[in-house]
Amino acid sequence: MSVRDELLQRFLDAASRGDEEALSLMLSQSRELLVQRGEQGWSALMLTARNGHYDAARVLLSNGCDTSVTNRSGQTARDVALFWGHRHIARLLTSSPGHHLRQLLPSTDTEEPDIHFNREILDRMSDRRSDGEWLASRRASPETVFLLFHALSPLVRSGAEREEQIKLCKLRSAAVQELLTSSRTLEVFLGVDKQQQQQDDDDDGMVAWFALSTEDDPTQLLKDKDPSSFFLQEAMPGLLRLSDDDAGVVAQARSVLAWHSRYRFCPTCGGDTKVEEAGYKRTCLRAGCRSLQGVHNTCYPRVDPVVIMLVLHPDGKQCMLGRKKIFPPGMFSCLAGFVEPGETLEAAVRREVQEESGVQVGPVQYLSSQAWPMPSCLMIGCHCVAVTTDIKVDQNEIEEARWFTRQQVMDALVKDKRAVFIMPPRQAIAHYLLKHWIGCNANL
Ligand code: ZN
Ligand code: MG
Repeated sequence: MSVRDELLQRFLDAASRGDEEALSLMLSQSRELLVQRGEQGWSALMLTARNGHYDAARVLLSNGCDTSVTNRSGQTARDVALFWGHRHIARLLTSSPGHHLRQLLPSTDTEEPDIHFNREILDRMSDRRSDGEWLASRRASPETVFLLFHALSPLVRSGAEREEQIKLCKLRSAAVQELLTSSRTLEVFLGVDKQQQQQDDDDDGMVAWFALSTEDDPTQLLKDKDPSSFFLQEAMPGLLRLSDDDAGVVAQARSVLAWHSRYRFCPTCGGDTKVEEAGYKRTCLRAGCRSLQGVHNTCYPRVDPVVIMLVLHPDGKQCMLGRKKIFPPGMFSCLAGFVEPGETLEAAVRREVQEESGVQVGPVQYLSSQAWPMPSCLMIGCHCVAVTTDIKVDQNEIEEARWFTRQQVMDALVKDKRAVFIMPPRQAIAHYLLKHWIGCNANL
């Protein structure tokens, strides 16, 4: 028997006997014991529940023991307690799932944050997407705004006030006439301006916005247009230089256009498709295709959920950040990963953190989300609390992961010369997750 196995055996024995002191002592040496299991997948918590040791169960819970774990028969510790008639323990396990660790999570009762890509200046007016007559009248209106895209890059020009900022070129109907009639142009109706109303009111007065994507040579297109305009070269970090208003519109337009560029053919039968609903649907042209019956997610623009999480140390004073090889030197950020089919957000957070860092996570709390149009992700920002602290990184995914103290995060946030790492940019939700953690705990 290895040293590790022997320690686990002693820990499980202590749980079976209800020896609180021994449990506390061993946990102070290794918190890994909380997640390790013995024969038939029985945890220490299940053994306290089996044998009716209320105080020992409390010791395990106060150390952040996860109550949702099941043994090989699919029973939780609470199921075990109920089976053996220990109702007071069953109640304890119902009332405090990771209660102690939950207290480390920052409060979420703040206003919805104004994160880059999230601002919605347009009302999407989805009910107008199939109203051909109305769309035609908007296309012809001199007030209507057209955004031009080539290879998913928007046409922009440098901002006047701040040099690093760039602005979307808002073209008018007259400038895009040729494009509008070209078969090589893809059009997406984005919505109507929430603020602006047209002056003359011979119609509904709404100012519509469209995205036009062209495959034609952009240098040809730009001949008669603003000579200072250009197609944004790199999405990252280019799109981060847009104003919050412009970024919100691009988040919508670019994601839909990216879907069109990747899903030209019917994913069900491989047949040709036609664009409908003002750019929000692709319908298969092959008669009898299965995708023509019922509602299918292959016919509509896709959104890919990604969990991004700040992992808090069980001591509440540190957080874990990692760095990918592609990050700029010195930058550390939150771990993240795609949600898999049939998975909850909480399960995805626990799995991703475990896979990438080897750390086990207990309570998970959603904070805020961010549209991320590269190409069509939804970043779901969470805080979570670790129940183990040893880091073993998966080198394929990340280069390094470390625990950072709150002071180190504050130094990085204010770019102090003592800073030991560089924060993710303020336009990224990871920045907000870090700032929120610091902010919420600053007064404690
Ligand atoms: Zn088809
Ligand atoms: Mg991953």
